[in-house]
Amino acid sequence: MSLTKLSMAELAVLLRSRQISAVETAAEYFDKIEKEDGKIGAYLTVTKEIALRQAEAIDQKRAAGEELPPFAGVPAAVKDNICVAGVRMTCASKILENFVAPYDAAAVERLRQNGIILLGKTNLDEFAMGSTTENSAFQITRNPRAVEYVPGGSSGGSAAAVAAETAVFALGSDTGGSVRLPASHCGVVGLKPTYGAVSRWGLTAFASSLDQVGILARTVEDTGAVLQMIVGPDSRDATSCEQARGLFVADIPPQKKWKIALPQELLGAQISDNVREAVARAAHVLESYGAQVEWIRMPSLRYALSTYYIISSAEASSNLARFDGVRYGRRAQGYTDMNSLYEKSRSEGFGREVKRRLLLGAFVLSAGYQERYYRNALRVRERIRTEWQEVFTKYDAVLSPVSPDTAAKIGARDPDPVKQYKGDLCTVPVNLAGLPAVSVPFGKGENEMPVGVQIVGNVFSEQSLLQIAALLEREALI
Ligand code: GLN
Repeated sequence: MSLTKLSMAELAVLLRSRQISAVETAAEYFDKIEKEDGKIGAYLTVTKEIALRQAEAIDQKRAAGEELPPFAGVPAAVKDNICVAGVRMTCASKILENFVAPYDAAAVERLRQNGIILLGKTNLDEFAMGSTTENSAFQITRNPRAVEYVPGGSSGGSAAAVAAETAVFALGSDTGGSVRLPASHCGVVGLKPTYGAVSRWGLTAFASSLDQVGILARTVEDTGAVLQMIVGPDSRDATSCEQARGLFVADIPPQKKWKIALPQELLGAQISDNVREAVARAAHVLESYGAQVEWIRMPSLRYALSTYYIISSAEASSNLARFDGVRYGRRAQGYTDMNSLYEKSRSEGFGREVKRRLLLGAFVLSAGYQERYYRNALRVRERIRTEWQEVFTKYDAVLSPVSPDTAAKIGARDPDPVKQYKGDLCTVPVNLAGLPAVSVPFGKGENEMPVGVQIVGNVFSEQSLLQIAALLEREALI
């Protein structure tokens, strides 16, 4: 059987017992990338030389009898808005086309310490803004389950690589659903950890109060093991915290009496029938394991989308101010003075969607409108957070769709951006409250495309989320 079919846990057994080497494993992955990524377009950069050197070093240590971390030699991919030292990091933007990251992101550093081999950098919507990966300045990525469909976004390259078996797992980033949505569309597991659980050092900031590094993997078990590697405090990210340490095992506790809530606001008319059916089936499975499932109301979620788009755009306009043609990336030719240098570099360097968000962000922060939009959005965000907290005084977790629909066809999205933003209905409320959530594949929907269901928990409840997810994963297969 081909090595690329194996989960991380299965592969690690073969590596540890030296039935296969890290070099062999990496080589098989690169072969597959060369053969198949041309039609998927998951990767923007492939780091073959670096990876093979890393793999050789691991094999030598193993041969010398050195004690290695349990997953040493497993190959993975990293979204191209996360720094890997010495490797180009584009954020899928022309403005960073030739930017080489000077250091490793904290999460990448931890993967290296765990002996994970880095295969390359994956495609995304420019600066992680979007839900289809069609906003990349360089290429589109196709859904490996059916190539005429989008993989979802913005971590579409990472999800596609995992689904196409051209990476064992991948890192992504989730500001408003960018790990969970592509996971759902591609039929893989996607975890957005609690805000602060994983250091954001070296993740290119989109909206700092919402961004979190996340994981895309083939199984819930693998997801927990990767979380274990990258979780924990880091002095370079003041929002990272100690509480997140723990052991994340996806074992299924016998007959735990979970209390699960289904918010009506996330299961209304906007949700397509086949997605609603998947959630209902998931609820039945949980009930059959002794869970108590109840409908609830979360009225403030009506405002989550507008709140998210105001806050995330405001933060983006501030975070992306640094890309000015002077300090980073691309500088336009033919400028006449400082202002024209900024203007030309940014006009040429950023794509349409990024510009739209920067304008919106500058507008909601402007002197005349700040109170009306930005400040009000902050107040509503507090309401949303409080409402979630009330839910978690009574329930262990919330079950919902990830996306209102299964993947759309490439090129078929609505030209009206607001209609596109509506697809983020179920994912953004989670980021606004800094909560953890997991997207688990749960069968097929329209056109035989995968459907994921979302489980949301209170802060630092990743362990319970993974257990519930493991249960659904087991039943989804039957
Ligand atoms: N689709 C959302 C947006 O475009 C989510 C992005 C993200 O999570 N990075 O803002």
